[in-house]
Amino acid sequence: MPSVFIKTFGCQANKSDSERILGDYFSRGYTETQKWQEADEIVLNTCSVRQSAEDRVRGFILNLNKFLSLTGKKKPKLILTGCMLHFNEKEIKDLLPEVDEILPIAEVGFNQKAIRKDHRSAWVPISTGCNSFCTYCIVPFSRGRERSRPPEDIIKEVENLAKDGFKTINLLGQNVNSYGLEKSGINLRKLYMDKDSFSANSIPTNQSQYKKPTDLPPFVELLKQISKIKDIEKITFFTSNPWDFWDELIEEIASNPKIDRFIHLPVQSGSNRILKLMNRGYTRQSYLSLVKRIKAKVPDAVFGTDIIVGFPGETDADFQDTLDLIKQVGFKVAFVARYSPRPGTASFKLFSDDVPAKIKKERWEILDRIANKNNLAERPQIP
Ligand code: SAM
Ligand code: SF4
Repeated sequence: MPSVFIKTFGCQANKSDSERILGDYFSRGYTETQKWQEADEIVLNTCSVRQSAEDRVRGFILNLNKFLSLTGKKKPKLILTGCMLHFNEKEIKDLLPEVDEILPIAEVGFNQKAIRKDHRSAWVPISTGCNSFCTYCIVPFSRGRERSRPPEDIIKEVENLAKDGFKTINLLGQNVNSYGLEKSGINLRKLYMDKDSFSANSIPTNQSQYKKPTDLPPFVELLKQISKIKDIEKITFFTSNPWDFWDELIEEIASNPKIDRFIHLPVQSGSNRILKLMNRGYTRQSYLSLVKRIKAKVPDAVFGTDIIVGFPGETDADFQDTLDLIKQVGFKVAFVARYSPRPGTASFKLFSDDVPAKIKKERWEILDRIANKNNLAERPQIP
């Protein structure tokens, strides 16, 4: 039987996609090998969030080339999927000529059976893509527009997981709060950054992604349905952005003991000036007031976050605002990244990457030390 080796770079969304890619290979009669040197096919499930992630893909291919020239072995078929598909086919051919085939993840589909290594806790995708267009982020280009998976398909998968003995379900999407709302057609963070008309002044503040639905938000409805599945004991979700975190969701967390008290709520910066340039659509005040509203209803809530240091133009004063915010919230875990300009994004086009690498590193070290100081031993494994 032919064998496949899947190399996954980047976040939990990619790890979850790789489980379904492996399922697809199994359904076609392949076996999995843990040794890329022995594989007939190698799938590279790539990340593009930072330049360093793309460099690692190139590094893998260079190693493969070296191995092939030393051993004289036949080259395995090389398949590229994941976020590097923000490049078009020609660009990929120029950049990575060794790639034989491109696999858009939509071809595998949400409903392909996933092959999971963990047998108690399962990652279940509920949506893919993103409509938020934070100025620094490649995801809306690499994964395309937000698309929600039908609730009945999600429930069916979770019911089957419960039958197979899974106890924890981790719901996955770039912005889970807005699950099911893209069909409403009212996207308030619409493509402000249409290439020609976009300027820094056109970045909106304090905008939700969608207009609040008059009924229960579909994500809250989904949580209620999944909670009814008897043998599921714990439900977590990633990522909840600070927009569209409506009171109904807070009420649901407060009243539903199956929902985990860990809430991942990426803030990215504590400076209003930088948040606006990032197109995050909230202010530090509205973020802090959301945290306060959650803590009031869910006193045992704990928070995780993502922060970018060294965004273009970030001054010492902006950085101090971020430090101040993280001290106020007291995050359990913070994933701190140094800004990496991504070609094609709005911040790449509009701003120069002007914070020196040395300053980015210093800010990164300070934040990482302060934000993560008490919890290194128990950092939750999240995207
Ligand atoms: N949708 C999630 C969100 O909004 O937080 C996750 C998006 S992204 C895959 C994960 C994290 O990567 C972001 O929260 C951000 O901190 C970081 N990131 C994205 N683009 C970046 C860039 N250009 N440079 C540095 N970090 C970046
Ligand atoms: Fe990227 Fe912003 Fe979408 Fe998260 S919400 S995936 S940071 S564009």
